[in-house]
Amino acid sequence: MINFDYVRAASQKAVTDLLGKDPTAKIIAGGTNLVDLMKRGVEAPEKLIDITRLPLGKIEQVDNLVHIGALVPNSELAAHPLIAEKFPLLVQALHAGASPQLRNMATVGGNMMQRTRCTYFYDTVLPCNKRKPGSGCAAIGGHNRMHAIFGASQNCIAVHPSDMCVALAALEAKVMVSGNKGERKILFKDFHRLPGDTPAQDNNLQRGELITGISIPLAERFSKHATYLKVRDRHSYAFALVSVAAALQLDGNKIQDARIAMGGVAHKPWRLYAAEDFLKGKSATTQNFKEAAALAMKDAKAYEGNHFKLTLAPNSIVQALQTITRNI
Ligand code: SF4
Repeated sequence: MINFDYVRAASQKAVTDLLGKDPTAKIIAGGTNLVDLMKRGVEAPEKLIDITRLPLGKIEQVDNLVHIGALVPNSELAAHPLIAEKFPLLVQALHAGASPQLRNMATVGGNMMQRTRCTYFYDTVLPCNKRKPGSGCAAIGGHNRMHAIFGASQNCIAVHPSDMCVALAALEAKVMVSGNKGERKILFKDFHRLPGDTPAQDNNLQRGELITGISIPLAERFSKHATYLKVRDRHSYAFALVSVAAALQLDGNKIQDARIAMGGVAHKPWRLYAAEDFLKGKSATTQNFKEAAALAMKDAKAYEGNHFKLTLAPNSIVQALQTITRNI
C-alpha cells in the first residue's frame, strides 16, 4: 500500500471541492471494498476523504418517496421498520449480501460504488482493461465462470457484485448526487454502466460528484408479492452466480404489473423489461413464467466457463416467480 493523505470532510461542499481539485482522491466511508483494493495495489489514491461525519445517515418518508442517506449502513437499512414494511424485497437482498460484520460497516453509497470481484481485476500482474485500460482482458479465454452473459464487450465481461443494487433497480430507485454544479438525480437503471470501450468506468458519476442518498418511490402494490433469489456456490458470504429480484402486482391469479431484475449476469443490475411486458395481463402460471424467462434470455451470450448460466438464469427467474405466487 502506498502512503496517502487522510482528510475528514466537514461538509458536502468540502468533499466536492476536494474531489474536483484532486483527480486521484477517493471517498472512504465503511471502506469494505476500497481498503482491500488499496492493500492489493489495485487502487492507489493519494488522498482519502472520510465522509463518515457528514449528515447522510437518515431514513425518512417524504410524501410518496422514501429517502435513504448514503451513509446508512446496510444492516441498519435492512432492520429499519419502514423498509421492512414498504420494501421487503430490499431487505431480502441486503440480507443476501456479504456477512453480518460487513453489513454493519458497508454503507448504501459504498455498496453502489463497490467494484467487480473479477479475479483478474484484483491480480495486478495480469491484463485487465478495467484496472489498466488498454492492457487486455484476461477473463476472455480465462477463468470466467462468474462472468457476464448480458451486455458484455470485447473489452470486459465483468459483473457488478451487489445484491442491494439489483433490488433497487427493480424498485426504480433514484440516486441523489451533489457536485460543484449542484444537485441532480440519476435513475437507478442509468447509474451503473455497461463496459463498452471504457470498462474502467463503472458508473455515470461525474468527477467531483458525491452520492448523497437514494430515493425509492412507494409502490405498495409490489410489496406483498416479491422475492430475492440468490444462487451462489455456498449459502453465505459468496457473490451471486445469478440472482433475481422479482415483484408482481397481482389481482387474484392475474398479473397486473411486474418488476424483475437480475444480478450476477451483467456489468450492471439487469432489468428484464421484455419479460415484464410479457407478463402484464397474463395469468400467474409456470408456463407463462417459462415464456417470460425465455424472452429475458434472448440476447444472452455465454463464455467458455459460464455456459451453465444460460440454464441457471431462466430457471432462477421461473423459481422466483413461482415463489411469489405459491400462496395466492
Ligand atoms: Fe478486467 Fe473486466 Fe476482463 Fe475482468 S472481465 S479481467 S475486470 S477487463
